[in-house]
Amino acid sequence: MNELGSQQENKRKKNIREISPIDVYKLLPKTNCCACRESNCMAFATRVVNGELTIVDCPPLLTDEYRDMLGELTALLTPPVRVVTFGEGEYSIAIGGKYVLHRHEFTYHNPSPIAIDVHDLMPEDELLERVRQIERFSYNYIGRALAPDAIAIRSTSHDPAVFRQTVKKIAGISKYPLILCSFDPAVMEAGLSEIPSRHPLMYAATSENWRSMADLSLKYNAPLTVFAPDDLSLLRTLTKTLIESGVLDLVLDPGTFTENKLSSTISNFSLIRTEACRYNDKLFGFPLLGVPFAVWAGEEISEDVLKWREAITASMLLSRYADLLIMHSIDGWVLLPQLIWRFNLYTDPRKPVSVDGGVKILGNPDRASPVLVTTNYALTYFTVESDIKAANLNCYLVIIDTGGLSVESAVAGRILTAESIATALTEYKVKSFVDHTTLIIPGLAARISGETEEATGWHILVGPKDSSGISKYLHDRWPPEA
Ligand code: SF4
Repeated sequence: MNELGSQQENKRKKNIREISPIDVYKLLPKTNCCACRESNCMAFATRVVNGELTIVDCPPLLTDEYRDMLGELTALLTPPVRVVTFGEGEYSIAIGGKYVLHRHEFTYHNPSPIAIDVHDLMPEDELLERVRQIERFSYNYIGRALAPDAIAIRSTSHDPAVFRQTVKKIAGISKYPLILCSFDPAVMEAGLSEIPSRHPLMYAATSENWRSMADLSLKYNAPLTVFAPDDLSLLRTLTKTLIESGVLDLVLDPGTFTENKLSSTISNFSLIRTEACRYNDKLFGFPLLGVPFAVWAGEEISEDVLKWREAITASMLLSRYADLLIMHSIDGWVLLPQLIWRFNLYTDPRKPVSVDGGVKILGNPDRASPVLVTTNYALTYFTVESDIKAANLNCYLVIIDTGGLSVESAVAGRILTAESIATALTEYKVKSFVDHTTLIIPGLAARISGETEEATGWHILVGPKDSSGISKYLHDRWPPEA
């Protein structure tokens, strides 16, 4: 049994946390007043447990009459992994706040931000250009802008004055949340004093500097990372000591090791998160910081190999269980897989990614332009939209709300039906856009064309199965013969 084994065994039989809607319901006012816009208190409790609403969405709970219940609910719903924020105002980022180990148990909240490093010995032009590159990096993925989130400023000069100047320059041109990286309290204070209101994350307290770092954390109200590489006992001891010193906003870094120590890195992250989520271990109940950047401190090999290693390390840490990453590479082929993987990990597995139903006007259509139908599954919608835009077509696209299902699934599940199309045409007042009544449905919905014609009174054309064929289809078949 390892060093934590006996403690684990002692805790294994208790404190496994599961919150049911009934637990929440019992502490609500139970008046069914609908001030929360839910039909009753039980519906509200269910949505709270699902993470779709928070208890402050119940106005009566915030009154004096229910103060005790609000306190009990707050305690009940406090996640085993503390939420820590850094950054200022609308640029602040929340990390942690996890309830569970696995995303099929409960949707993950607070997607892990990715911070990109700069250092204080970079020539000014290079430094400013790198910050601009970080801010420019954005990729549109099914309607969402994916981008890195923060900047980690490393002191490589170990000189407080140099570090202060670098922090000042970056804070002057970027509002991104900052992570200040130095083990030297004098260097750290030089950086903190330059941006007292920016609420940066401090990196890091160790067994040597923890007392000074704790003082700085309290003085500047800045969250503090605890660093104990590959030593979970030390990490616990340091965390306990810092909490007793009054520092509550902590982030844990058990060390990121690559190559043949990558597996022990993942084991450490997994063990810490298991202790927090399964056994409510308060000392491990903090966000975890992973540092894929560490690959760059290893052997000197080709840059491409290091970038490849950094990408793999980042992906593994996002999966197990980093709440924040510090990376070096900003090449698309390194960063994009991480951003997309993060997007997928933090998407509610119970709800397909969707867009709102309605009518989308694409290009400059007139009253004779074609009207096409698709569903509100985000991947379907954005593929269709992108094919239409790429071909410079002018048309109306009716988006049917199928609960986020693709055309084929929605037809098979009887969600995309003649009736749902007829309802959408009426609800979205599609007739008001055009002087004709011809509707093009997706090729994958061909089998409902007859019944749709009957239910809508519109003339139905069956379009291509793949939206890449829309351009040729319209070229050949629009306007339809009278
Ligand atoms: S506002 Fe509060 S009391 Fe009213 S129905 Fe919603 S949960 Fe119940």
